[in-house]
Amino acid sequence: MFDDSHYPSSSLPPLHYLDSAATCLIPEQVVAVNQRYLQFEHANSHRGFYPLSSDLTDRVENTRQQVASFINAPCAQQIIFTSGATSAIHQIVQGYFADKIAAKHNIVTTVAEHHANFVPWQQLAQSVGAELRIAPVKASGEVDIELLTELIDENTLLLTISHLSNVTGVENPLEQIINQIKSINSSVKVVVDGAQYIGHYPLDVSTLGCDFYVFSGHKLYAGFGVGVLFCHQRVIEAMSPVVFGGGMVERVTNNQSLWQTGIRRFEAGSLNAQAIVALAAAIEYIQFARSNDAQLYMSELSNYLRQRLSAIGFCQFLVATDKATPIVGFNLKGIHSHDVASILAEHNVAIRAGHHCAQPLHSYLNKNSSIRVSLALYNEQQDIDAMIDGLEKAHTIMAV
Ligand code: PMP
Repeated sequence: MFDDSHYPSSSLPPLHYLDSAATCLIPEQVVAVNQRYLQFEHANSHRGFYPLSSDLTDRVENTRQQVASFINAPCAQQIIFTSGATSAIHQIVQGYFADKIAAKHNIVTTVAEHHANFVPWQQLAQSVGAELRIAPVKASGEVDIELLTELIDENTLLLTISHLSNVTGVENPLEQIINQIKSINSSVKVVVDGAQYIGHYPLDVSTLGCDFYVFSGHKLYAGFGVGVLFCHQRVIEAMSPVVFGGGMVERVTNNQSLWQTGIRRFEAGSLNAQAIVALAAAIEYIQFARSNDAQLYMSELSNYLRQRLSAIGFCQFLVATDKATPIVGFNLKGIHSHDVASILAEHNVAIRAGHHCAQPLHSYLNKNSSIRVSLALYNEQQDIDAMIDGLEKAHTIMAV
């Protein structure tokens, strides 16, 4: 809808890219900003006194402000640039919780987390003999709030939970969850993995009430290399740097080092200014699209996807929900997801097959793997039609 540059008019067949939950293709506007950056604007920010560097420093800091406004964070000094969601979660685990956790504590999470928001907590809990408590999901794919709240007690250190599942596309009602768990134990911290949510829905971290919110730029049309860690003011002062080096220190002597006071103490080393500049362009792209009915467009396209999949009769959805979102997980009766993906690839349809870095969820659902179709702003109904044609072929060839 908003960029058809991925549908070449040459003799190449069009690619029906339905794997944006893995990474979004990069819109022309963002490519243009990247190219200009590489040709004329590349420098090391926060270092030089010459304009090439100092202008870039301003752009990086303006992007910080832009990100804060985009997610309605109270202030730019609560936005930390990382290399992605995974490294943002590591900053939280090692920088905030590692020196606060003890054997008596428990960490609450859900069975539907991406490994990036599961394994680091599992490892942290095991390192001190603390308990990792795992809330199940309901048949609809949403976390079971009743069972989740039963896991919270006076020794719960944190809840870590995704906003939108990368496997099922189901959204967790986070405001309700956060209110409920904080009413049981107001000191429980809440970490939200927003990697899949951020590209699809407006986010307001101030009303959400979470302590940490993370996402990656590449799921937001910006390409690889940048992630965001939002921290609530109540946690930021008590968080320590995890990576040490240039740019994050106030003073270094032979015997000791003093960190910078602001969030720059969490950004050691040369910043990936190229990716940050691209993130700024990607946010502009999304905001322009949203001011031109992108939300409506995506909800209609998501409904169309679900309706077409439901109609073929041999599609088994992973979870029973009638809420259509841009991500859907399913299997075809009697056919391995890898075979389906290979047949679709022959028809120039790109989807994802496997466990999508969510093995606990697949085990819980008693599945070895699944197919995931995920949409973005550049998709059209014809992409879904091509995918459905491919599924029908797979069914004809493979079904026993
Ligand atoms: N959480 C979720 C829900 C994801 O889908 C992903 C990426 N697939 C991540 C975390 C990790 O993101 P990244 O690989 O960009 O660090």
